[in-house]
Amino acid sequence: MNMTNLTILVVEDEEAIREMLVLALEQAGLTVVAVASAEQALQTLAETMTDLLLLDWMLPGISGIELARRLKNDAGYKEMPIILLTARGEEEDKIRGLEIGADDYVTKPFSPKELIARIKAVMRRSGKLSESGLLNVGDLTLDAEQHRLMIAGQTLEVSPTEFRLMQFFMTNPDKVYSRTHLLDQVWGRSVYIEERTVDVHIRRLRKILSAYGREELIQTVRGFGYRFSIAG
Ligand code: CA
Repeated sequence: MNMTNLTILVVEDEEAIREMLVLALEQAGLTVVAVASAEQALQTLAETMTDLLLLDWMLPGISGIELARRLKNDAGYKEMPIILLTARGEEEDKIRGLEIGADDYVTKPFSPKELIARIKAVMRRSGKLSESGLLNVGDLTLDAEQHRLMIAGQTLEVSPTEFRLMQFFMTNPDKVYSRTHLLDQVWGRSVYIEERTVDVHIRRLRKILSAYGREELIQTVRGFGYRFSIAG
Protein backbone atom coordinates (compact mmCIF):
# COMPACT_ATOMS: atom_id res chain seq x y z
CA MET A 1 0.00 0.00 0.00
CA ASN A 2 1.45 3.35 -0.98
CA MET A 3 0.89 6.42 1.15
CA THR A 4 3.20 8.92 -0.54
CA ASN A 5 0.38 11.27 -1.48
CA LEU A 6 -0.86 11.58 2.05
CA THR A 7 0.17 14.42 4.30
CA ILE A 8 0.14 13.98 8.06
CA LEU A 9 0.32 16.84 10.50
CA VAL A 10 2.01 15.85 13.76
CA VAL A 11 1.30 17.99 16.83
CA GLU A 12 3.58 17.05 19.72
CA ASP A 13 5.34 19.37 22.16
CA GLU A 14 8.04 16.92 23.26
CA GLU A 15 10.85 17.29 20.79
CA ALA A 16 12.29 13.76 21.10
CA ILE A 17 8.89 12.15 20.51
CA ARG A 18 8.11 14.57 17.68
CA GLU A 19 11.37 13.69 15.93
CA MET A 20 10.77 9.98 16.42
CA LEU A 21 7.28 10.35 14.91
CA VAL A 22 8.54 12.30 11.90
CA LEU A 23 11.19 9.67 11.22
CA ALA A 24 8.78 6.73 11.57
CA LEU A 25 6.11 8.33 9.38
CA GLU A 26 8.57 9.40 6.70
CA GLN A 27 10.01 5.90 6.62
CA ALA A 28 6.47 4.65 5.99
CA GLY A 29 6.37 6.92 2.93
CA LEU A 30 4.15 9.64 4.34
CA THR A 31 4.66 13.36 3.89
CA VAL A 32 4.99 14.83 7.37
CA VAL A 33 4.62 18.32 8.77
CA ALA A 34 5.40 18.60 12.50
CA VAL A 35 4.57 21.38 14.95
CA ALA A 36 4.76 21.77 18.74
CA SER A 37 1.43 23.38 19.64
CA ALA A 38 -2.26 23.51 18.77
CA GLU A 39 -1.88 27.19 17.82
CA GLN A 40 0.82 26.29 15.27
CA ALA A 41 -1.33 23.40 14.08
CA LEU A 42 -4.24 25.75 13.28
CA GLN A 43 -1.88 27.96 11.29
CA THR A 44 -0.47 24.96 9.40
CA LEU A 45 -3.93 23.53 8.69
CA ALA A 46 -4.88 26.83 7.06
CA GLU A 47 -1.85 26.70 4.79
CA THR A 48 -1.36 23.01 4.01
CA MET A 49 -3.76 20.38 2.76
CA THR A 50 -3.71 17.81 5.55
CA ASP A 51 -5.03 14.26 5.24
CA LEU A 52 -4.71 13.23 8.86
CA LEU A 53 -3.90 14.85 12.18
CA LEU A 54 -1.77 12.98 14.70
CA LEU A 55 -2.43 14.92 17.84
CA ASP A 56 -0.86 14.75 21.29
CA TRP A 57 -3.45 15.05 24.07
CA MET A 58 -1.28 17.02 26.52
CA LEU A 59 -0.07 20.25 24.94
CA PRO A 60 0.79 23.63 26.44
CA GLY A 61 -1.83 26.27 25.57
CA ILE A 62 -4.80 24.79 23.73
CA SER A 63 -4.83 21.07 24.61
CA GLY A 64 -4.99 18.32 22.03
CA ILE A 65 -8.46 17.28 23.10
CA GLU A 66 -9.68 20.88 22.82
CA LEU A 67 -8.17 21.25 19.35
CA ALA A 68 -9.78 17.95 18.28
CA ARG A 69 -13.14 19.13 19.61
CA ARG A 70 -12.88 22.45 17.74
CA LEU A 71 -11.89 20.82 14.46
CA LYS A 72 -14.64 18.21 14.65
CA ASN A 73 -17.14 21.06 15.10
CA ASP A 74 -15.76 22.99 12.13
CA ALA A 75 -17.41 22.17 8.80
CA GLY A 76 -14.11 22.79 7.03
CA TYR A 77 -12.22 20.20 9.04
CA LYS A 78 -14.68 17.74 10.53
CA GLU A 79 -13.98 15.10 7.90
CA MET A 80 -10.23 15.18 8.49
CA PRO A 81 -9.32 12.07 10.52
CA ILE A 82 -7.71 12.67 13.91
CA ILE A 83 -5.67 10.16 15.90
CA LEU A 84 -5.07 11.18 19.51
CA LEU A 85 -1.75 10.35 21.06
CA THR A 86 -1.49 10.15 24.80
CA ALA A 87 0.34 8.87 27.82
CA ARG A 88 -2.98 8.28 29.49
CA GLY A 89 -4.24 4.77 29.20
CA GLU A 90 -7.40 5.26 31.17
CA GLU A 91 -10.52 3.87 29.57
CA GLU A 92 -12.39 7.01 30.59
CA ASP A 93 -9.99 9.25 28.65
CA LYS A 94 -10.22 7.01 25.64
CA ILE A 95 -14.00 7.28 25.68
CA ARG A 96 -13.78 11.06 26.06
CA GLY A 97 -11.43 11.27 23.08
CA LEU A 98 -13.69 9.17 20.87
CA GLU A 99 -16.79 11.04 22.04
CA ILE A 100 -15.51 14.36 20.77
CA GLY A 101 -15.03 12.70 17.40
CA ALA A 102 -11.41 11.54 17.34
CA ASP A 103 -11.09 8.65 14.88
CA ASP A 104 -8.66 6.60 16.91
CA TYR A 105 -6.45 6.66 19.93
CA VAL A 106 -2.87 5.50 20.48
CA THR A 107 -1.38 5.19 23.95
CA LYS A 108 2.29 5.97 24.62
CA PRO A 109 4.57 4.12 24.58
CA PHE A 110 3.67 2.62 21.21
CA SER A 111 5.67 0.96 18.48
CA PRO A 112 6.03 2.80 15.16
CA LYS A 113 4.62 -0.33 13.53
CA GLU A 114 1.46 -0.15 15.61
CA LEU A 115 1.07 3.56 14.87
CA ILE A 116 1.46 3.07 11.10
CA ALA A 117 -1.11 0.25 11.19
CA ARG A 118 -3.57 2.54 13.00
CA ILE A 119 -2.96 5.34 10.52
CA LYS A 120 -3.56 3.01 7.59
CA ALA A 121 -6.76 1.72 9.15
CA VAL A 122 -8.09 5.24 9.73
CA MET A 123 -7.11 6.32 6.22
CA ARG A 124 -8.91 3.32 4.75
CA ARG A 125 -12.03 4.01 6.79
CA SER A 126 -12.04 7.62 5.66
CA GLY A 127 -11.71 6.51 2.04
CA LYS A 128 -8.34 8.20 1.56
CA LEU A 129 -6.57 4.93 1.00
CA SER A 130 -7.52 1.64 -0.61
CA GLU A 131 -5.46 -1.56 -0.55
CA SER A 132 -4.31 -0.93 -4.10
CA GLY A 133 -3.83 2.80 -3.63
CA LEU A 134 -6.67 3.27 -6.11
CA LEU A 135 -9.92 5.03 -5.41
CA ASN A 136 -12.84 3.51 -7.31
CA VAL A 137 -16.29 5.04 -7.64
CA GLY A 138 -18.48 3.44 -10.28
CA ASP A 139 -16.36 3.15 -13.42
CA LEU A 140 -14.16 6.04 -12.32
CA THR A 141 -10.71 5.21 -10.97
CA LEU A 142 -8.38 7.66 -9.32
CA ASP A 143 -4.75 6.68 -8.95
CA ALA A 144 -3.33 9.06 -6.35
CA GLU A 145 0.18 7.71 -6.72
CA GLN A 146 0.33 8.25 -10.47
CA HIS A 147 -1.91 11.30 -10.39
CA ARG A 148 -4.20 9.70 -12.91
CA LEU A 149 -7.95 9.85 -13.33
CA MET A 150 -9.56 7.19 -15.47
CA ILE A 151 -13.03 6.43 -16.71
CA ALA A 152 -13.62 2.88 -17.87
CA GLY A 153 -9.84 2.51 -18.11
CA GLN A 154 -9.34 5.65 -20.26
CA THR A 155 -7.15 8.39 -18.80
CA LEU A 156 -8.74 11.83 -18.58
CA GLU A 157 -6.69 14.98 -19.17
CA VAL A 158 -7.27 17.00 -16.03
CA SER A 159 -5.24 19.77 -14.42
CA PRO A 160 -3.75 19.28 -10.91
CA THR A 161 -6.58 21.39 -9.43
CA GLU A 162 -9.24 19.40 -11.24
CA PHE A 163 -7.55 16.20 -10.09
CA ARG A 164 -7.76 17.35 -6.46
CA LEU A 165 -11.36 18.40 -6.96
CA MET A 166 -12.24 14.95 -8.31
CA GLN A 167 -10.28 13.33 -5.49
CA PHE A 168 -12.35 15.29 -2.99
CA PHE A 169 -15.62 14.45 -4.76
CA MET A 170 -14.79 10.76 -5.09
CA THR A 171 -13.80 10.56 -1.43
CA ASN A 172 -17.01 12.36 -0.40
CA PRO A 173 -19.73 11.26 -2.83
CA ASP A 174 -23.45 12.03 -2.59
CA LYS A 175 -23.03 15.09 -0.36
CA VAL A 176 -23.65 18.70 -1.31
CA TYR A 177 -20.73 21.09 -0.85
CA SER A 178 -20.78 24.86 -1.06
CA ARG A 179 -18.24 26.70 -3.20
CA THR A 180 -16.60 27.99 0.00
CA HIS A 181 -16.27 24.47 1.36
CA LEU A 182 -14.77 23.24 -1.92
CA LEU A 183 -12.32 26.16 -1.93
CA ASP A 184 -11.24 25.29 1.63
CA GLN A 185 -10.86 21.61 0.87
CA VAL A 186 -9.29 21.73 -2.57
CA TRP A 187 -7.44 25.05 -2.76
CA GLY A 188 -6.68 25.48 0.95
CA ARG A 189 -7.97 28.03 3.40
CA SER A 190 -5.30 30.67 3.29
CA VAL A 191 -5.55 31.11 -0.45
CA TYR A 192 -7.89 33.88 -1.53
CA ILE A 193 -9.71 32.74 -4.61
CA GLU A 194 -13.04 33.94 -5.87
CA GLU A 195 -15.89 31.48 -5.62
CA ARG A 196 -16.53 31.60 -9.32
CA THR A 197 -13.14 29.89 -9.83
CA VAL A 198 -14.86 26.76 -8.54
CA ASP A 199 -17.50 27.13 -11.26
CA VAL A 200 -14.81 27.48 -13.92
CA HIS A 201 -13.13 24.23 -12.85
CA ILE A 202 -16.45 22.40 -12.49
CA ARG A 203 -17.36 23.50 -16.02
CA ARG A 204 -14.06 22.18 -17.33
CA LEU A 205 -14.49 18.87 -15.51
CA ARG A 206 -18.00 18.46 -16.87
CA LYS A 207 -16.73 19.14 -20.37
CA ILE A 208 -14.06 16.46 -19.95
CA LEU A 209 -16.63 14.03 -18.50
CA SER A 210 -19.15 14.85 -21.25
CA ALA A 211 -16.84 13.19 -23.79
CA TYR A 212 -17.88 9.97 -21.99
CA GLY A 213 -21.49 11.04 -21.55
CA ARG A 214 -20.88 11.42 -17.81
CA GLU A 215 -21.25 15.16 -17.19
CA GLU A 216 -24.14 14.40 -14.83
CA LEU A 217 -21.67 12.98 -12.29
CA ILE A 218 -21.23 16.53 -10.99
CA GLN A 219 -24.58 18.04 -10.15
CA THR A 220 -25.46 21.65 -9.43
CA VAL A 221 -27.58 22.10 -6.34
CA ARG A 222 -29.20 25.46 -6.92
CA GLY A 223 -28.51 28.06 -4.28
CA PHE A 224 -26.05 25.82 -2.48
CA GLY A 225 -23.25 24.26 -4.47
CA TYR A 226 -22.25 20.98 -6.04
CA ARG A 227 -22.65 17.28 -5.47
CA PHE A 228 -20.79 14.36 -6.98
CA SER A 229 -22.91 11.26 -7.38
CA ILE A 230 -22.91 8.19 -9.56
CA ALA A 231 -26.59 7.68 -8.69
CA GLY A 232 -27.57 10.45 -11.17
CA1 CA B 1 2.72 16.41 25.38
